[in-house]
Amino acid sequence: MSTFLLEMVTPEHVLFSLPVRAVRAPGIEGSLGILANHSPLMTVLQTGLVKVEHENGDEEYIATSGGFMEVSGSKTIILADTAERAADIDITRAEAAVAKAKDELAGGGTVDYHEASSSLERAMNRLKVAQLQNTK
Ligand code: ATP
Repeated sequence: MSTFLLEMVTPEHVLFSLPVRAVRAPGIEGSLGILANHSPLMTVLQTGLVKVEHENGDEEYIATSGGFMEVSGSKTIILADTAERAADIDITRAEAAVAKAKDELAGGGTVDYHEASSSLERAMNRLKVAQLQNTK
């Protein structure tokens, strides 16, 4: 099966730069599947999961938030605001983040609603990705 280069990066670090068979990413207007020789495109990403099919057929899930994906020639770049491979997700930390954001949202007062709801979305996404990888 044909492969193409996928670079998964954040402003903090490079997760990997590897040949892959396929990638599925959470585009702002819906999930996008990319195979080798896909036509060029650029899209904004929302918080969600990136699914990668590696060269050897192994499938991997990555939790991402924000950023964009650029497909050009034989290379695809995903630059996400945050990205964690399923195996690197700290479940205890994500559960604590869910509880904290829920408390803030329920508490009213001077809470930054946008920040609390974004944090809740990121943390719940991390839990979903970790669970998906475990039940694969
Ligand atoms: P928390 O409240 O748990 O600190 P946060 O929403 O403040 O979460 P982010 O701003 O989304 O954290 O991410 C900050 C950094 O921490 C990023 O590098 C992200 O990859 C990492 N990170 C956040 N939560 C987790 C987690 N549960 N497991 C692994 N890495 C995480």
